[in-house]
Amino acid sequence: MCSVNDAEFETDDELMQPDEVPQTEGAICKKCNENNAEVVLRVKDTYCSTCFLAASTHKFRATIGKSKLVRPTDSILIGHSGKAGSTVLLHLIKGGMSEAVHKRLMYKTAVLYVDDGAVLGQTVDQRKSTISAIREQVHGLGFTGYAVSLNESLHSSEPKIYPLEEEAEDLKGDSDVVDLFNAVSSYTSKEELLHKLRQKLLISVARSLGCCKVFTADGATDLAITILSNIALGRGAQLPLDVGFVDSRELDIRILRPMRDFTRKELIYYLNFHKLETIQTPGLTTKKEPYTSIQKLTEKFVTELNTEFSGTVSAIFRTGEKLSIGNLEASNLIETCALCRAQLDTVFTDTSSLQATEFSKLISAEGPKGKIGKAAFELKKFPCVIDAAENVLLRDSKNCDNCSCSKGKEKFEMSAKNFEKYLCYGCRLIFKDLDKQHSIPNFLQNSVRQRISLDDMREEIADFLL
Ligand SMILES: [Zn+2]
Ligand SMILES: [Zn+2]
Repeated sequence: MCSVNDAEFETDDELMQPDEVPQTEGAICKKCNENNAEVVLRVKDTYCSTCFLAASTHKFRATIGKSKLVRPTDSILIGHSGKAGSTVLLHLIKGGMSEAVHKRLMYKTAVLYVDDGAVLGQTVDQRKSTISAIREQVHGLGFTGYAVSLNESLHSSEPKIYPLEEEAEDLKGDSDVVDLFNAVSSYTSKEELLHKLRQKLLISVARSLGCCKVFTADGATDLAITILSNIALGRGAQLPLDVGFVDSRELDIRILRPMRDFTRKELIYYLNFHKLETIQTPGLTTKKEPYTSIQKLTEKFVTELNTEFSGTVSAIFRTGEKLSIGNLEASNLIETCALCRAQLDTVFTDTSSLQATEFSKLISAEGPKGKIGKAAFELKKFPCVIDAAENVLLRDSKNCDNCSCSKGKEKFEMSAKNFEKYLCYGCRLIFKDLDKQHSIPNFLQNSVRQRISLDDMREEIADFLL
């Protein structure tokens, strides 16, 4: 599951083997009152495997059904990581597709594996062997799929995806994303960045494949961890988007989390009863100290507390569910974060049309001799400055040899400091950890360019002339 948080948090090896052997001896399934119990959930709820699996299918269908967001013939991109959550997700969807006609799921599906091996320090051969394991697993579950390299998330162009059947050819060309991650100093920010880039890639691949929905496999345990770590990371305002059933920050494509009611324990039972294999790939902080990142520490806290107090995950999860903020849809590009596309929690003004009106009022009031009018006039003499203004964040064009200004570009480049204006609070923290020598990824520069408001342009121009 190339999903939001699953990859960071999902099942480490040890989680695949619950150490507590369920005390089911002599117990009877509380559902059918007939079979011997094989499953214990919430300390005392006992089920036989048949009832447990039927309940799992029902829960999955109900989660999707009650949202009324998915139409039977929707095209859906399924983020798949090979781990527990997305393996169960694929199996449940396949099961739904072979149900009796009136209950059958008819989705057109595409499965996507995001290859982030390069930033995890894997060699090309290791990545290839992971991809071929994913291919076998996806085929075994009855799907065909695609793979895409995380490197593609850094570009503004359509991501290059390739069918899983094909051998990955140019796995080497991932230096951009590796350099970027190397330039980020903390693991907390690396994890955040990985999560945001993965999310962005899912959306852009869905768009290019014509899918209107993305399914990710975040389960209840993942989401409980996300709730707490998001708060610690200053992303409280985005919680409903990050942990709710639907993430609606993109207008054309919705990310849905149909596995959100499954705990890790339930996933493991499901996998075991169906004899499904998962593929264990390391995460950024696998085998590292728990204090390596806020996310890892939060995971340790939640899972350990949950072994002692089994209601922990659901208590956090249900509390998070009650949080909501008004209109979550990205109504206006300028008001959204250039990286994560959540509404900016850092500005509280009415922008866009109001700003445009203000700006033209200002110019009319000042007349052609006013500062701004003069600025606009002066600028005509220096085409490279206009050019530079459009490329506010380009750092590699130091020399100006097109006209007489000599300093224009350099001056505008300094406004790269203003870059953070276009980020939400949480994403600003990521870039605080980015080496100042490292350039801002291309797609972000483009994304910022689309967001530059008239107010900012005015500031830039005035700054330049003063
Ligand atoms: Zn039963
Ligand atoms: Zn953001």
